[in-house]
Amino acid sequence: MARKILCTGAILLVIALFAGSAWLLLTPRWVYQVSVEGSPVGMVKSLEEYKQIIEDIQSRAEKQWECDLIMNEEIAATRVRMWSPQLSPASVRAGIEAAATYQTKGWAIVINGDTVAIVDREQTAKDILEEVKARYLSQNKNCSLVSVNLQEAVSIESAAVTPDSLMDKEAVLAMLVCGQEEITSYVVQRGDTLSGISRSHNVSLATLRDANAIAGDTIQVGQVLSLQSSKALLHVKTVEEVAVTETIARAVKYKANPDKTVRADKVAEAGSDGKRAVTYRVVKVNGNEISRKQVAAEVTKEPQAKVIMTGIGYWPTRPKGMFRFPVNGGTISSRFGEPRSYGPHRGVDIANPRGTPIYAAASGTVTAKTRGSSYGRYIVIQHANGYSTLYAHLSEFAGSLRVGSSVVRGQVIGRVGNSGRSSGPHLHWEVRRYGEALNPLNFFGN
Ligand SMILES: [Zn+2]
Repeated sequence: MARKILCTGAILLVIALFAGSAWLLLTPRWVYQVSVEGSPVGMVKSLEEYKQIIEDIQSRAEKQWECDLIMNEEIAATRVRMWSPQLSPASVRAGIEAAATYQTKGWAIVINGDTVAIVDREQTAKDILEEVKARYLSQNKNCSLVSVNLQEAVSIESAAVTPDSLMDKEAVLAMLVCGQEEITSYVVQRGDTLSGISRSHNVSLATLRDANAIAGDTIQVGQVLSLQSSKALLHVKTVEEVAVTETIARAVKYKANPDKTVRADKVAEAGSDGKRAVTYRVVKVNGNEISRKQVAAEVTKEPQAKVIMTGIGYWPTRPKGMFRFPVNGGTISSRFGEPRSYGPHRGVDIANPRGTPIYAAASGTVTAKTRGSSYGRYIVIQHANGYSTLYAHLSEFAGSLRVGSSVVRGQVIGRVGNSGRSSGPHLHWEVRRYGEALNPLNFFGN
């Protein structure tokens, strides 16, 4: 009896084992087929395995790019029923890795509608714009900032980008503010490197490689590289108030020395310069001053005039009459009466370096201070008793001189020059009486 039972049990076991194997062989199994963009790359046994593979690939890529990534390709796992499925997790992994491309979230700096740079974080973009502005703020403690603005329309916008388009902060800063000059080419010198040239010319490595069809970093001495240097993309307009102390130059007053034997000019009073506190409103664009307006000024110290007693002048000949010589020294280069195209020379030419002071030959009133085609800049002074003197070819007039001004003998009225019809710096000096030209040298003796 016991034997029969045992036998039946064994038979049942064999049947069960057989049925189990048949079940396995005849019944399909559930597995997951993985596809990239619709093309199958292999099969895995579970959804967990599939997810683990995706996670591994993603985290490895994120580690490499150092940012959060989104895979562009559509990866799918489909549950399928199969008899004897060939599981191939390794080829699933390889298939996905080979096909995967990524994008990441970046922040674009948009200037006047154009995206000029992409950085990883919104804060980085904000920091960059603040640093561009800060770069042009004056460190001078006498300056107070009124306003700072970017002249361009600038916005920061979120963008989906490929991870290799992210730029680092320093590169973006350099691109935004540098490269005012446009340099078109550069000849490679011994010791140059591509990255060195990139830095010194503010051209990105990518631009250099693109512009010159260079794949790696190899350049040769003498090679002419074209540089597409970036111009400043942002213009920072600053308005500052600047407080400065300015010197007020002392005026110079001339007084005729009553002692007619004194030749030299003599300083009677040295005087002193004054001072004023001035505030300017200064507008700059990228640090270059474009306007300066005085908004406040206060004299803090009044200037005291310098007073000069004018002597009769240094000329080897002594004055016989009312006139002192109009310059201290020089050479007579043309005398009175010498033939000229218009007739006899009406005055005397005294050659002197440009800028030599010209003195009023006698006290009187300025009746002309003007410019003519022949005389150039010239002055006429009317003196007593019908006399007048004329001084021509001046380089400049004394600043205070006006028609109608009174001048004293020895007062500086202008400077020797070469204006008008003149072949070198000299003073053309005329003396007239009631309009008739007289020989100026007749007023001097040995
Ligand atoms: Zn002349």
